[in-house]
Amino acid sequence: MKNGRRIVVKIGTSSLTGEGGSINLRRIDELAKVLSGVRNESNSVVLVTSGAVGVGSSVLWNGVRPSELDGLQAAAAVGQIRLMHIYDKLFGEFGVPVAQVLLTRGNVENEIQRRNCLNAFERLLSLGVIPIVNANDVVNTDEIKELAGFRDNDNLSAVVAELIGADMLIFLTDADGLFDSNPHSNPNAKLIPRVSEVTPEMYANCEGKSTLGTGGMTSKLRAAERMLAIGKEAAIMNSERPSQIYELLAGAGVGTIFSAKK
Ligand code: GLU
Repeated sequence: MKNGRRIVVKIGTSSLTGEGGSINLRRIDELAKVLSGVRNESNSVVLVTSGAVGVGSSVLWNGVRPSELDGLQAAAAVGQIRLMHIYDKLFGEFGVPVAQVLLTRGNVENEIQRRNCLNAFERLLSLGVIPIVNANDVVNTDEIKELAGFRDNDNLSAVVAELIGADMLIFLTDADGLFDSNPHSNPNAKLIPRVSEVTPEMYANCEGKSTLGTGGMTSKLRAAERMLAIGKEAAIMNSERPSQIYELLAGAGVGTIFSAKK
């Protein structure tokens, strides 16, 4: 992959938080350093982050996620600024400005709002800013109810990637990539290094969700399929080693790469 590409990176709650929803500072520090480096190599980078509800729940209720809607809204409101404070601080260490972009589904479905969103992204990226995106879980309660919202941030990241014409969507998650069966329950599961076409069998093989997040492998597969359908690429890789993003972008085999290219 040449420099000067547009990349959307999505990181989930289970990769950002540890015990009881406490923030995984080491992970975010490494991620901020790598994404800053990737940006410095003339690429445009957008980060889609989860974790607002998880972090807010750790601040307010020792990590116990509330079941009622207004509790989730409160957690998202508190957690979002905690997260952004840390991102701003850590990206700031590397001299990279970040921006908060909170979206609802209505924002991207309404023609005028969609254009405004795109204009804002374009301007931010032209200024070398890394926009940090999350669903606006406070005002659009549909987002947290998973009904009429983005469903989850995996889907949100695909929507954003499509909106800005990203070349690649990278999922940082708690698995090494897509496997031919569930690696948590089957020790003989094999990693699939390259996918040019998403098949029904792949969906059947990736049942089950991660513990703290709302997505899981199925939603990543759906997002990757969407990227392939518009002639773009996607990757699923382990969030434990963010520096592998450099290798991925240099064309090395990391995690699972979804690409129609030979
Ligand atoms: N927007 C939610 C949050 O920040 C997470 C949604 C998801 O992980 O899919 O907590």
